[in-house]
Amino acid sequence: MSGHGGVMKKKAEIRYIKPHFECGRIESIPLDLLIAQGITRLGFDWDGTLMGQKVSSLHPNFHSRLAELKHFLAEAKIRGIEEVVILSNVGLPLPWLIYRTHLARRHLKVHVIRVYIGQLKPKPIAFERMMAAFTYGATKENTAFIGDRIDTDILGAAEFGLTTVWITDSLHEGFRSRLKKKKIVPIAQRHFQEDSSESGT
Ligand SMILES: [Mg+2]
Repeated sequence: MSGHGGVMKKKAEIRYIKPHFECGRIESIPLDLLIAQGITRLGFDWDGTLMGQKVSSLHPNFHSRLAELKHFLAEAKIRGIEEVVILSNVGLPLPWLIYRTHLARRHLKVHVIRVYIGQLKPKPIAFERMMAAFTYGATKENTAFIGDRIDTDILGAAEFGLTTVWITDSLHEGFRSRLKKKKIVPIAQRHFQEDSSESGT
């Protein structure tokens, strides 16, 4: 009934989120740009970001992906990244997830923080736990968070005050309707052009 783009009642609740950086996969993270901005610590989401959405510890690609990640992290270190921590929303302490985390710790030699119900991203407590896991010197100014979920990883990290990098290649279909339900609109996105008629031109 609001014929020409009138402001709808719910409009105020919509959150527009713009990640600082956006790239397809972690291998295309603009490390030099991040480092030029003083970033020396990286926090990563795990599923859909470092690892494909469905790549479990038993998946044939698991170990080859670990090897790629090892290579990427070594490269990041050479360029000036001092430390990396993985922060993963797990929800429930399922055995295979715990085993996979163990493998990541062992092979990538990084801290892995798993957060469960009550402390899940985007809650600040998740990011507080991640910051506490860095050995020394991590601040909101020198830490970037990299994740595939705009409603948990990017929203949470941005509200916490970190630089954000959105990984978009692993996004799947159901994601967009979920964002709509949560009234979250990612902007300046490569893979999620907003075509909603409400947004006009
Ligand atoms: Mg993820």
